[in-house]
Amino acid sequence: MTQTEYKIHVDKIYENIERARLNLNAHHIVKLVAVSKYSDVKAITKLYDIGQRAYGENKVQDLLVKTETLDELPLEWHFIGNLQKNKINNLIKANPSLFQSLDSLALALELDKRLKTNDMNMDALLQINSANEASKSGVSAPEAKDIYTQISEQCSNINLKGVMSIGAHSDDTKEITRSFELTRSIYDELEGASICSMGMSGDYERAIECGSNMLRLGSTLFPKD
Ligand SMILES: *Cc1c(COP(=O)(O)O)cnc(C)c1O
Repeated sequence: MTQTEYKIHVDKIYENIERARLNLNAHHIVKLVAVSKYSDVKAITKLYDIGQRAYGENKVQDLLVKTETLDELPLEWHFIGNLQKNKINNLIKANPSLFQSLDSLALALELDKRLKTNDMNMDALLQINSANEASKSGVSAPEAKDIYTQISEQCSNINLKGVMSIGAHSDDTKEITRSFELTRSIYDELEGASICSMGMSGDYERAIECGSNMLRLGSTLFPKD
């Protein structure tokens, strides 16, 4: 794909987002995070040239390498992957603008401790396993509100901003919608929450319909050919 063809491709995605957003509510703003986990620095630079500023990685090591390599560009980095406790120090070193995948109280307590040691704060989202799938991380929907409150009260160096969820892995669109609506209903109950991160390449328009205000798009933004 030439850069011109690529721009046309990306513009189509922007138009899809815009259409879904306006269908919901003209005042509903949707932020796009480009998931660059399978993409190299060259591909990120091509998307940056079209105007994309926020990127997400799911491995702490890749986040560190890419933030350092692209240090000159005014980018915003999100961490969206499963974080093992032994990688907390590297996450702190990478210092993402948003840690989207905080998935337990235990992890929050440990992260908060290390943040305090480093005299740092971090913005984060609580990940919810909204479709209750064994393969996915995240707190269960019934526990989400309680755990969110506990983290808010006990972890003063973590600023919880809302929730993140991956839609149900299913061919049944009703099931996907159900998982988004469940996440949205939890989000609506959280005091002070402003980010509801849901929607990936295959389901982002549906996610917006269900109230998502942050998309995480990987494969569609970084086509392989
Ligand atoms: C990979 C990934 C995405 C992007 O997935 P695509 O289907 O490629 O858009 C979004 N969110 C998370 C948590 C991911 O791991």
